[in-house]
Amino acid sequence: MEEKSRPVSLEFFKRPLEQLREPNWSITRVKGKQTLSCVALSKDLIGCYVHYARGRSQPCIDADTCEWCLSGVPRRWHSWFGAVSLSGQSKSIVEITLAVMPRFDEWIRQNGTLRGTRVDLARAGKRDNGRLMCMLERGAKKSNELPGAPAVAQMLRRMWDLPEHTPIIESQAPNVLPLFDRKEA
Ligand SMILES: [Zn+2]
Repeated sequence: MEEKSRPVSLEFFKRPLEQLREPNWSITRVKGKQTLSCVALSKDLIGCYVHYARGRSQPCIDADTCEWCLSGVPRRWHSWFGAVSLSGQSKSIVEITLAVMPRFDEWIRQNGTLRGTRVDLARAGKRDNGRLMCMLERGAKKSNELPGAPAVAQMLRRMWDLPEHTPIIESQAPNVLPLFDRKEA
C-alpha cells in the first residue's frame, strides 16, 4: 500500500474563512474639497506600492517584474485602514498617502493602536492632487463599543483579483521610516 503524502504545512486561522468573507467595504479616498471625519477600526495600517494605470490603482507586486515599473509608471505608497463614520452609519476602507504617514506612525507608536482614534482628512488647497493632511485625536468611544475591524488585506486582494493568500506583510510594529528616503508622495 502506498503511503499517503502528508501536507507539509497547515495554515490555522482565528475564524472560518467563510466568516471572514464579509461583503466588500468600499474604499474612500479624500478628494478636492471633501473632508473626511471617521473613527479608525483597524489597529494598524497596511500598505503597499501602487501604480495608477488603466484607470485604477494597480498593486506593485515585484518591482523587478512589474509591468508598470518596467514601463516607467511612477509608483506610490498607499496605506489603508478600516473606519466607521462618526454617526456609525457607514463603514469603509480609508486610503491614505505617504504624506500623512509620519503622523500616523507617531500616533501608533505613542498609543499602541490606531483603533478608536478619530481621524480627520483633507487635501491642501482643496485640490484633488493637494497634499493629504490629517488630524488625529482620541475618539469618544472605547474599542469594545466599536464594530469589528474589516479584513482589509483580504478585501484589497479581492479588489485586485489576487489569490486569497498572496502574502501581504503586516508588520507587527509600525515600520515606515525607511520609506522617507524615497522621493515618492
Ligand atoms: Zn511596479
